Amino acid sequence: MAAQIPHRPPPPAFSPDWALFLDVDGTLLDFADLPDEVHAAPALIATLDALRDQLDGALALVSGRTLAQLDALFAPLLLPAAGLHGLELRDNGHAIAHARPVALDDVLTAARALAAKYPGALVEDKGTTLALHWRGAPAAEEPLHEFATSALIELPGYHLQPGNRVLELRPDGAHKGEAVLALLATPPFHGRRPVFVGDDLTDEHGFAAVDCHGGFGVLVGARSPSAARYGLHDPAAVREWLEQAVILSQTQEPG
Ligand SMILES: [Mg+2]
Repeated sequence: MAAQIPHRPPPPAFSPDWALFLDVDGTLLDFADLPDEVHAAPALIATLDALRDQLDGALALVSGRTLAQLDALFAPLLLPAAGLHGLELRDNGHAIAHARPVALDDVLTAARALAAKYPGALVEDKGTTLALHWRGAPAAEEPLHEFATSALIELPGYHLQPGNRVLELRPDGAHKGEAVLALLATPPFHGRRPVFVGDDLTDEHGFAAVDCHGGFGVLVGARSPSAARYGLHDPAAVREWLEQAVILSQTQEPG
């Protein structure tokens, strides 16, 4: 008998005292076979812009993408953001980036040679991390896993971060939970109720972090187990929820 997918209740109605942390791929935006094929619709950008105003600036993107990729995706918005799962962090315009180890160049070259054998597979160079994608090439999953495991020998201080049809080689010591806590310690996030919306395993760190600070997580999809208390079906449901939040907060405005 198939396991029952746990049903999480929808999140509560928007409140302007939240600090809102949003994952991007699989949460705000639908997946595409390749990361570059993903686009943010103008309506979504307008919604995020309006929500940021309603939250007095306490809206951040928390993603595995680089800050540069996030800025390009959501242009002209320049939101507070954590890139590379927290290795890059920008609060009030100040960005922190980590150094790239020399050995990563050789690993990149070898990974690209391997991926080239599987049309649709992709190796994404993110500066301090490498992401091995097989969404467009399921047969590449096992060889990319084996490759990444052996590449760790050349990369002390690195570990493997599994995601949704992607495996990332990344430095130890940064995850989405730490990124949320770092932002939550600073204005305009400080003192607000943190809400984290995400779909992936990497988002569990974010769910746990907001749970410890009086907030809650919202899981997109039906992955189990999860520390998120609430759920939304898919990115379309997240976008609709955010649109409703804008409408609700506008009707709540005094005067
Ligand atoms: Mg995601």
